Amino acid sequence: MKEIDWANLSFGYMKTDYNVRINFREGAWGELEISSSEQVNLHMAATCLHYGQEAFEGLKAFRGKDGKVRIFRLEENAARLQSTCRGIMMAELPTERFKEAVLKAVKMNERFIPPYESGASLYIRPLLIGTGAQVGVRPSNEYMFLIFVTPVGPYFKGGFAATPYVITRKYDRAAPLGTGIYKIGGNYAASLRASHEAHAAGYSAEFYLDAKEKKYIDECGAANFFGIKDNTYITPLSSSILPSITNKSLMQLAEDMGMKVERRPVAEEELTTFEEAGACGTAAVISPIERIDDPENGHSYVIAKDGKPGPICTKLYNKLRGIQYGDEPDTHGWVTIVE
Ligand SMILES: *Cc1c(COP(=O)(O)O)cnc(C)c1O
Repeated sequence: MKEIDWANLSFGYMKTDYNVRINFREGAWGELEISSSEQVNLHMAATCLHYGQEAFEGLKAFRGKDGKVRIFRLEENAARLQSTCRGIMMAELPTERFKEAVLKAVKMNERFIPPYESGASLYIRPLLIGTGAQVGVRPSNEYMFLIFVTPVGPYFKGGFAATPYVITRKYDRAAPLGTGIYKIGGNYAASLRASHEAHAAGYSAEFYLDAKEKKYIDECGAANFFGIKDNTYITPLSSSILPSITNKSLMQLAEDMGMKVERRPVAEEELTTFEEAGACGTAAVISPIERIDDPENGHSYVIAKDGKPGPICTKLYNKLRGIQYGDEPDTHGWVTIVE
């Protein structure tokens, strides 16, 4: 194998040695299968191709200074996938089976787990798709669960930095009683155009307002939003936000640091009051926000006045990364060590 340039990896797909699969047929999940094929053989009438029965997850494995490999909060990802499955009527994979598959996929591709010093990690992508042939609009009775892994580079190549974001008023990602709370491809399809336009205009990602009133901050691209003021961590409460495991973890860490935590609707005007703000998710942990523009409304909310990440974002970021890489004690039992 050619040497991998760990520090210069992007967030892209790189072929690894194996993927793992579990099929659901006749009402039951089968045995875990190990595959070295990158292809999936699908019936052309599979429900995932027509009616969007597709769910996914994203988590990471990290190699520590001690050489041990740690996976962050995988039981939370299992539970979220189950919730998504209930949401779009797919067979739920039990947590134990999810865990078995994640550990297998990581161990089988051990040589792709980046070294500690690189700041890179192994991205784990589980997906679950409806594979049964159906023409009428109905849930499938057959499913495939699959996990592939791929090494990904550090998100911040030039160091932890604050960047600009933009509010989109032209597009909604999800409806208040729709599927925004589930991690499904359909939500991403709904976001591609807004995301493309935001990037083309030089922004890191697009912010969505609540679809009903266009008044409250919902989500930011594929990340949750939080703001910091008066020693308080504030994150929006809404029925169309994907429950981020990173956000959940940051809320706990903020509380551990003696901060107050509030989950409540956050009106757009409140952006003027935050001392710091960030977008959070597995990819970056925290992506600090420099400013949020609302060009269609003629506003620009500058959050990082000096253009740099604030002290609380930096502290939260270092703490969470420290737990993931094993540099900080795992006091909440968030980490699974790969034996
Ligand atoms: C995956 C995802 C997130 C982040 O969730 P994490 O569990 O923190 O990675 C946020 N928003 C959306 C829409 C997502 O799909």
